[in-house]
Amino acid sequence: MSNLNVINKNRTAVINPLVTCQPLGAMFAVSGIKRGLPLVHGSQGCSTFVRYGFARHFREPADIAVTSLHEDAAVFGGRKNLISGIGNLAARFKPDVMGVVTTCSSEIIGDDVGGFIKMAKDEIVKKMGVTAAEKIKIVQINTPSFVEQHYKGYDNAIKAIVDTLAEPKDEQNEKINIVPGIVNPGDIREIKHLLSLMKTEGIMLTDTSDPFDSPLRPSKAEKNPYYQKGGTPLEEIKDSANSLGTISLCSYANTGAQSLERKYKIPSKVGGTPIGVQNTDEFVRTVKKFTGNEVSDDLLDERGLLIDAMADLSSRYLFGRKVAIYGDPALTAGLARFVTELGMIPSVVCVGVKNPEFVKEMEKVAKESEDDVDVLLGQDLRALDVYIKENPVDIMIGNSDGRLMAKDHKIPLYRVGYPVYDRVGTARRPIVGYNGGLNLIDGITNTILDKYYEVQDWKLQQ
Ligand code: SF4
Repeated sequence: MSNLNVINKNRTAVINPLVTCQPLGAMFAVSGIKRGLPLVHGSQGCSTFVRYGFARHFREPADIAVTSLHEDAAVFGGRKNLISGIGNLAARFKPDVMGVVTTCSSEIIGDDVGGFIKMAKDEIVKKMGVTAAEKIKIVQINTPSFVEQHYKGYDNAIKAIVDTLAEPKDEQNEKINIVPGIVNPGDIREIKHLLSLMKTEGIMLTDTSDPFDSPLRPSKAEKNPYYQKGGTPLEEIKDSANSLGTISLCSYANTGAQSLERKYKIPSKVGGTPIGVQNTDEFVRTVKKFTGNEVSDDLLDERGLLIDAMADLSSRYLFGRKVAIYGDPALTAGLARFVTELGMIPSVVCVGVKNPEFVKEMEKVAKESEDDVDVLLGQDLRALDVYIKENPVDIMIGNSDGRLMAKDHKIPLYRVGYPVYDRVGTARRPIVGYNGGLNLIDGITNTILDKYYEVQDWKLQQ
């Protein structure tokens, strides 16, 4: 049996980090609500960098507002900015949901965000009338950025959204809540596709697929800031309190699911991101357990196609190849499991978080692996760079931030995760589900073939 070695060095400086701050996750979550607007209560940079990052990765504009705190707010507080910001957005955009996302500065100066939101609501009532004002729901999302990272911000946002908006009814619906995690539009569409093959309706908490990948359909008639079909409607979020169950596909963002379970007795299941055969099987089994719906023949065919591709390609091109994987914990844990299913060795997995759940997931992977697995816990790309110099690998899998390292070490890089800015189409192509598995196996194999097609490059066969 192979071992898991956890390398958890204390660092005095972070070089090329693998994580970013909490508000990003919250902005992402709110963007997945139909007619939803994130309002960042902080300095301009707190929203600009995220907006820029989303635009670069998704190739779509992201509507994110900011209260633009300056030096005076640090002394006198951000009340004026937040109240006028909420009022302006309400009047100009008429959102269904506004997510007020705090930052380092608004948390440190101790702004009473809840109190300011109440005052802002009174202002909206005065300006727009009671009926119009009541239509706009405001969710307070605390994301103190000096602790934890963007995953926690996403988790806090999903919890705040369901805590504020979910409304129980006497009757249960026949739906399943899904917390998809920080994934691409292609992934969310693939999850919906899996659900449709299971004849199951899902409530995405939240659905960022259309907001970050919407059709361009110019219309003379409207000047609407929102893409009409995009995001989870408010009514569905309300109805999440009446569902058959909640599946959180991100082990690090489960407090929303737990809250629904605690308050409304909606059973929850936290599973790994459905990357590869075993994780997708687990997802399908959970849907079946919650709904009682049978696994369709079409779904079994999709699974069969993936197994067929694995049989065709893994022993021929992939078996025994050493892989370095880096990025977000949910993604890397899923990828490590899938490459192990392919007979490859996830020699090193590098994440920026120090999460015990992640170590548990990697222990499972190590048990299934042909060789030892090293985990760089709470580290950065610099740590991975140093590691790879001493322990070369055949392929790297991760985001675009590793491109220069891959070039230096002359190791091919297969790009997945966030952010990917030096390739196109990544956000549209799913890597979850059986179809996503096919995309991954094709992509990984082609990346291997790019570098090692010639006979002299097949070290394993010599
Ligand atoms: S770390 Fe704090 S100040 Fe910097 S962008 Fe994030 S929230 Fe803003």
